[in-house]
Amino acid sequence: MTRITLVRGDITRQSVDAVVNAANSSLLGGGGVDGAIHRRGGPAILAECRKLRAGHLGKGLPTGQAVATTAGELDARWVIHTVGPVHAATEDRSALLASCYRESLRRADELGARTVAFPAISTGVYGWPMDDGARIAVTTVREADTAVEEVRFVLFDERAYDAFAAQLVL
Ligand code: ADP
Repeated sequence: MTRITLVRGDITRQSVDAVVNAANSSLLGGGGVDGAIHRRGGPAILAECRKLRAGHLGKGLPTGQAVATTAGELDARWVIHTVGPVHAATEDRSALLASCYRESLRRADELGARTVAFPAISTGVYGWPMDDGARIAVTTVREADTAVEEVRFVLFDERAYDAFAAQLVL
């Protein structure tokens, strides 16, 4: 069974097999988690992302999917990049957000990763309400069929931590 743990902190400081990046479909960097991962992980990550764009991901990584690269100088073996949906009031995109967690775990299984750190995908610039983002994250990981032993949600602030903690006791 997968253990779910919560940490308040910076995802780039975690020692895990795989760190999940809340990327955008360009895979060429951005703000928030993405910027922090590329800054601390160094240029090797971006170099591999560029190769993916030059190869089978010529149009970028579609929303809800996931792809792995080296973790560069992070204390991890891989970064799994996934593209969360932008929150929209007029359309229910929850299935795409759930897909990010599921597809990232599928990549982790392919790699043999046993410990995986996730940020609260889509809850930053992409505007997903934190409570709902936490609900989708925890529910999807709980229901996932995966060999990952620990899923660690790394939450940047107290509000995010509390939202995830509330889901875990349900
Ligand atoms: P998205 O574009 O998917 O919304 P963001 O990176 O903007 O992604 O934000 C996702 C979540 O990650 C937000 O809740 C944000 O506060 C949080 N966050 C930002 N930087 C870090 C970090 N270094 N470690 C962990 N979480 C972070």
